[in-house]
Amino acid sequence: ESKLEILKASVRTVPDFPKPGIQFRDITTLLHNPDALQITFDLLVERIQNSGIAPNYVIGIESRGFMFAPTLACALGAGFVPVRKPGKLPAAVHTIEYDLEYGTDRLEVHQDAMPAGSKALVVDDLIATGGTARATANLIDNIGCYVVGFAFVIELRDLGGRSQLPDVPIVTLLEY
Ligand code: 5GP
Repeated sequence: ESKLEILKASVRTVPDFPKPGIQFRDITTLLHNPDALQITFDLLVERIQNSGIAPNYVIGIESRGFMFAPTLACALGAGFVPVRKPGKLPAAVHTIEYDLEYGTDRLEVHQDAMPAGSKALVVDDLIATGGTARATANLIDNIGCYVVGFAFVIELRDLGGRSQLPDVPIVTLLEY
């Protein structure tokens, strides 16, 4: 069994979550499995390094991005920066508002999270439409830093999320 087969077998698909008709890819079953967990981090680090992505900071998007970003930051010799939902960060923040299918949402980062000019790798568990990752990239631009890459465990290919992202390397492990 190849590493990617082990990984794919560890992701649980939950029908009709959070809404009827949605096939939710549940990564808690991947995190639960020691082999799958190790493979995930080894492959992400290998592919990030092979893509030439050398960040000063790894940005985790709340909340499942938090499950991957700090460990990647340690392996890459970078710091970790959380991008959070509104009202969670205690000090002064920059905010970005972005469109959802119905309505809008917001993400925030501490104003002093990174020095201007820092290089950032944006990490989340999954890319679907790309709206969340794009908003995060815009937020990082707005604070005078550079997005030098993206990493996702899972890509929902048909939704075309990668076309929303700036032209930097994108690392993914599994496609649906
Ligand atoms: P996007 O903004 O790319 O449409 O959606 C991606 C965001 O929604 C990510 O933060 C991701 O955690 C969450 N998400 C959407 N669908 C799924 C799914 O099927 N499984 C998981 N684990 N997260 C999802």
